[in-house]
Amino acid sequence: MEETLATQTMQDCQADLNVLTVQTKIYNNTDQVLTKTKGSEKNKYNLDFPEKIDANSEVNLCLRNEEKGKKIDISVYYENDYGTVELIIHKTTNPFESSVSAITKNDLIDDVVLLKNTKFELNTKVIIAESLVTVTMRNVYHFLNELKGHIDGDQIEMGGGNLFDMINYAKACQIFNTRLQLRPFAIIYCTSTEEVQRVYKGAISNNLAIRVRSGGHDHEGECSGTDTILIDLSRMNTVEVDRESGVATIGPGNRFERLTTLLAEQQVMIPHGTCATVGIAGFTFGGGWGPWTRSKGMCCERLVGATIVLGDGSIKELSDDADLQARELLWALKGGGGFSYGIVTALKLQTFELPRELIRFEIEWNKYETDSDAKRLKIVHKNTVPTIQFLKEWEDVINANRGLESNANYLNSNEKLIGTNLKISAIPAAENFDANTVIHNCVMYGYWDGNENDLSKFIEKNFKNPQTYDFRITDIAGKKSYKAYGSNMMSNWDRESFHTVKQLLKGGVQVKSSKSRPISPDLENPAPHKITSCLVDAQGLGPKGHEALLRSLTSPLILDGNREMGLFTYITLGAISGVFYQSKTEELESAFPYKDKQYTIQYQTWWNESLERKEEGQDNFVYDRINRALDWMQVCRDFNIPNTSGAFISFKDSSIPTETYFGSSYERLKEIKKKYSKDNLNHFRTRKTII
Ligand SMILES: Cc1cc2nc3c(=O)[nH]c(=O)nc-3n(C[C@H](O)[C@H](O)[C@H](O)COP(=O)(O)OP(=O)(O)OC[C@H]3O[C@@H](n4cnc5c(N)ncnc54)[C@H](O)[C@@H]3O)c2cc1C
Repeated sequence: MEETLATQTMQDCQADLNVLTVQTKIYNNTDQVLTKTKGSEKNKYNLDFPEKIDANSEVNLCLRNEEKGKKIDISVYYENDYGTVELIIHKTTNPFESSVSAITKNDLIDDVVLLKNTKFELNTKVIIAESLVTVTMRNVYHFLNELKGHIDGDQIEMGGGNLFDMINYAKACQIFNTRLQLRPFAIIYCTSTEEVQRVYKGAISNNLAIRVRSGGHDHEGECSGTDTILIDLSRMNTVEVDRESGVATIGPGNRFERLTTLLAEQQVMIPHGTCATVGIAGFTFGGGWGPWTRSKGMCCERLVGATIVLGDGSIKELSDDADLQARELLWALKGGGGFSYGIVTALKLQTFELPRELIRFEIEWNKYETDSDAKRLKIVHKNTVPTIQFLKEWEDVINANRGLESNANYLNSNEKLIGTNLKISAIPAAENFDANTVIHNCVMYGYWDGNENDLSKFIEKNFKNPQTYDFRITDIAGKKSYKAYGSNMMSNWDRESFHTVKQLLKGGVQVKSSKSRPISPDLENPAPHKITSCLVDAQGLGPKGHEALLRSLTSPLILDGNREMGLFTYITLGAISGVFYQSKTEELESAFPYKDKQYTIQYQTWWNESLERKEEGQDNFVYDRINRALDWMQVCRDFNIPNTSGAFISFKDSSIPTETYFGSSYERLKEIKKKYSKDNLNHFRTRKTII
């Protein structure tokens, strides 16, 4: 009987059109046989249902009633280890009273598709499958089993049954942006290319999504993901410098504080970023802007080789002397974004010699000070300067090289200013906004190649009215220095310190010249934040652009008192313009698309853990402030600032279209991904990957 039914065709069933007919195709999409259980023996249609439906197979049912005006009514149960399913069929000559349904329990799920419902005919498909949760968890189980004997237990972090395991797992999940809380199935700490290859292949062959994390500083959390296998590379942190070629082979798990110290000990350096805890891998693939950009270019320009695990699990060495595939992939890694092209397990970066003397300095205008009752921080109106003045001065300084030869006199070309950014804090909306008079707190940060004397002359020459600003040297490094580079030269160029604000409110004074460890304790800690960006075109902002930029920084969405609570809203302008890009643009082979831009504009909103906790506790007062600040970010993202375009992928904001990040490199990057990453199923994908 079963066999007859299983082979009965739909055509047989449809042969007699005046007979009440129910055709149902039942798919058993589980890997276990479904067995009919007792209960419906008395029903004459029971025999039409097979006793068993094989795993991963289908059967056709054809129920008929030739007596006019009669109906077909039956309910049959099947079961396997995953659960039970009740199939209920009800057919009369009234289509509105006819139905086929399934009720699944435990780990079975169903999908019923109605194909036809007329006076005499009901035609449906019933699909029985395991719930996705069960399937996925079984895949995780198989994946972990396959790692046994290859990956040690202490390389795997998963949420466990006891409190300590749960705490360790929660810590391991933490990424730098605590606005995003993501929970992978498992975090695997790989220690070699072969382990990465094994874990990657194991995950995809078990149908599990993967993510890759090096330093964990992705602003949109794309280095992790809930219900994924997270390949963590932080333990791959070796650093080897070839003295002859100056090429450093660097593990992707290196972060700047340790990495720059190790390089400086060998008297060499790379164009690192501003923050001690950022990872070299994501930083380089995103371009890599920092305090060396004016003179040495973005970090990606120095990437001369890499080891990469591709989409099919193969390992490929990339260099400019290798085959076309290797050359194209290397080009893509130079600014084409993280994760899209494969998993990089080693980077080769061309280092440069450290200067003899290197000075890190700051200039601050319109300082915040405590008001008379020491409850508020205000820009005290004594020696204040309109923002437009120092903004233009800073622009003139970074653009002095445009049109000059790279070896021009440094006092004219500002060649010794090897990198700089300008931080301008946003303020609550001013009545009668005037771009020529509006005042914001502002700090210029810089690295200077040379001695204090020359630096002082440079500042006097380029920034008017010394009584209006504080100039401070915050640290000194270079070949002559005995101090650890990483912990002294890394800085707060990107962050504001709540610790410093609290000190000020307690009546403390702002640090003038520490020449000691510069990082306030909270600046290295993960914190919730949101970033967005654009870049200033080669011709510069011009009067309309300046006005729009300053207007965007003067907003009713910034509430008075935010700073005192540790809610910071500001922009950082990162200089690209300088000797490097002005003299080398033609010969540079990299995907970084913004070589001719003057500088990046990075809008930032940061708050802190105690505010976050209050927010979670539904303290609506705080919630309102953070919400408004995030609204400000959205307004700024869409602000029409003349002579700006593009966006910088390392300052990632998911709501900016992908093409905007990669500009003229976009089409070539997509082609490289399709042709050379061997990632046909696009395993290397997140919201802002190239495809
Ligand atoms: C506090 C702070 C300061 C910052 N300062 C600067 C700055 O001065 N200049 C600047 O340019 N940027 C800066 N950034 C941005 C930073 O460079 C990027 O977020 C960068 O992607 C971080 O790299 P990571 O390795 O730490 O990140 P991760 O979050 O680990 O990775 C970032 C992306 O790259 C992918 N990825 C990571 N490792 C690999 C790998 N080995 N192979 C393939 N894909 C990989 C990840 O999957 C993810 O998509 C800063 C960010 C923060 C949070």
